[in-house]
Amino acid sequence: MKNSNFPKIIVVKIGTSSVTLEDGKIDRININKIVAQIYALSLRGSKVVLISSGAIKVGMGILGIKERPKDIPHLQACSATGQSYLMEVYNDIFENYGLFASQILLTYDDFRSRKRYLNLRNTFNVLMEMGCIPIVNENDTVSTDETKFGENDTLASLVATGINADLLINLSDVDGLYTKDPSKNKDAKRIPVVEEITSEIVKLGGKSSSGVGSGGMASKIKAAKIAVSSGTGFVIANSKDENVIYKCALGDDVGTFFKGLSHNYTGKQTWLAFASKTKGIITVNCPAREKLISGKSLLPVGVLTVEGSFGVGDTVSISCEGKIFAKGITYYSSKDVLKIAGKKTNQIEKILGKNDYEEVVHHNNMVIL
Ligand code: GLU
Repeated sequence: MKNSNFPKIIVVKIGTSSVTLEDGKIDRININKIVAQIYALSLRGSKVVLISSGAIKVGMGILGIKERPKDIPHLQACSATGQSYLMEVYNDIFENYGLFASQILLTYDDFRSRKRYLNLRNTFNVLMEMGCIPIVNENDTVSTDETKFGENDTLASLVATGINADLLINLSDVDGLYTKDPSKNKDAKRIPVVEEITSEIVKLGGKSSSGVGSGGMASKIKAAKIAVSSGTGFVIANSKDENVIYKCALGDDVGTFFKGLSHNYTGKQTWLAFASKTKGIITVNCPAREKLISGKSLLPVGVLTVEGSFGVGDTVSISCEGKIFAKGITYYSSKDVLKIAGKKTNQIEKILGKNDYEEVVHHNNMVIL
């Protein structure tokens, strides 16, 4: 958590298994347990956003489809059907607690465009101000293969960082991150707190069979990285634990807690690092890299070359010696950057016939990765 106080903004992510029964029927009992905890958090003054999967499975149940379809159009049809049934149950149960649920369906593109991203942040803020509980899922009906979040782990982290959440509780069927694969090693120990996501921690999330390293764990660690980079604490815990949401909010020893970094990215930097779409690469020399890392802007003199085609205001990656180390918003198009590469700032006007900006990328529009 950002500080020792009770978290003010909490994002809870639950998977399909938390809201459905084996046959695809909606698990009203479990949803009621989840809503009761959200209600308890709201009584303590916390604002809660719920990221809920389940649309596809519920839709399959309603439409009598036994096996998960393989093709996107059928998955989309199931999701479109299931989502409305799922929301009906959420509305009903939240209303019993005097709360209102609001549906938000998002795609990856909504995060890539800065304008849409800021817009959706405003919507979240207003909903939370009004005491509503935003219920978020991927907009499966318009997401295509290439752009699909699939699991909602990344989606939950992007939402959490966008709304400056103090805590993101990621619930699934695992108890947390273990020192070894617990299904194969009796001496495997749960890691209660991760101070920093080192390469060793990333390795623990690898690709082995279960616990440590189910494919799911790797995606959760990736999601944890996004959250902690902008100062949001992240917990991986088991949805089967009684009152697990409330316990996580209290800071009890459940699951694995990834501490939010104190020198965290600003909202804009988080967006640049994890959500924005890059249109090209600007390669810089080593002295320029050092300057950028120390907080300076990128000037034309430090630019060696450009890859890709980008326009003014696009996001670009910045690389040095073959390694991308920063991302930023460029003040000049790829064509113009090529013309002024390696030149002094006072030559910009002579070369381009204009000198709108001294910097190619201003440090306020940049993030060091
Ligand atoms: N958006 C999906 C759903 O609500 C996520 C889970 C899945 O792909 O099965 O069902």
